[in-house]
Amino acid sequence: MRFFLIFIVTILYMNGTQAQNIKPLNDLEKKVIEGKGTEAPFTGKYYKFKEKGTYHCRKCGAALYRSSDKFDSECGWPSFDDEIPGAVTHKRDADGIRTEISCSNCGGHLGHIFIGEGLTKKNTRHCVNSVSLEFVPEKRETAIFAGGCFWGVEHLLRQIKGVLSVESGYTGGKTSNPTYEEVCSGETGHAEAVEVVFDANQVSYEKVAKYFFEIHDPTQTDRQGPDIGTQYRSEIFYTSQEQKNSADKLINMLKSKGYKVATKVTKAAKFYPAEKYHQDYYLKKGTQPYCHSYIKRF
Ligand SMILES: [Zn+2]
Repeated sequence: MRFFLIFIVTILYMNGTQAQNIKPLNDLEKKVIEGKGTEAPFTGKYYKFKEKGTYHCRKCGAALYRSSDKFDSECGWPSFDDEIPGAVTHKRDADGIRTEISCSNCGGHLGHIFIGEGLTKKNTRHCVNSVSLEFVPEKRETAIFAGGCFWGVEHLLRQIKGVLSVESGYTGGKTSNPTYEEVCSGETGHAEAVEVVFDANQVSYEKVAKYFFEIHDPTQTDRQGPDIGTQYRSEIFYTSQEQKNSADKLINMLKSKGYKVATKVTKAAKFYPAEKYHQDYYLKKGTQPYCHSYIKRF
């Protein structure tokens, strides 16, 4: 009996993680998604919809489009000028004129794609049926990491899918409104840190934190490569108990793999944004970080 219960619970859990609250398709949705139909123009619920978030496949739940790529085309259907990389399949219609777009995960029909209309800079219009989509609102969460020179940490963390913004700054010390020179002196107690805002519906805190541990060396104390001083220490500043639990869990995982982790885990205090010339440093310079790169540790 006990094994049977474990079996049932496992099956329920697996189904739950696969298909999160996906309701069965109604007749119109079936006609469009499975029968390659088209909803009437100007009728779809996402046509003029402007909330921030992600559009998922109505049939399987895969993330397809971001609200930041949606634009008003006046064509009668939701329009996007970009897709989430790899999420959408393009296939020329049998008539050889139009190109169909469908969900790369389940094959569900989305609509058609048009190139060269000059409506946006990307010169692309994904013309998508509202009924093929399910909108998931953005769930903004803030995380703060210190791992050596903030230029490199900022540059690499911004590349995670689901990260909305990154900002270099100072935190963890005593001085109010510190300057870069003051922090460099080592007297303020602040660390060079990066504040990351991400969409928790697209990427989990644990995934971001894992990446943080893999783009800097968490075994170095009060330094990172050539940068020496307490301002270059490895530290996670958590903004919730859940974040602290994740950070502790990851550190224990690394310790069990033999890493002598020096990373501190501290409750987040006031974050002071750094001077403008420190923001987007490598983006503006067009080069790669000198002291940070990805190394697989998990
Ligand atoms: Zn799908």
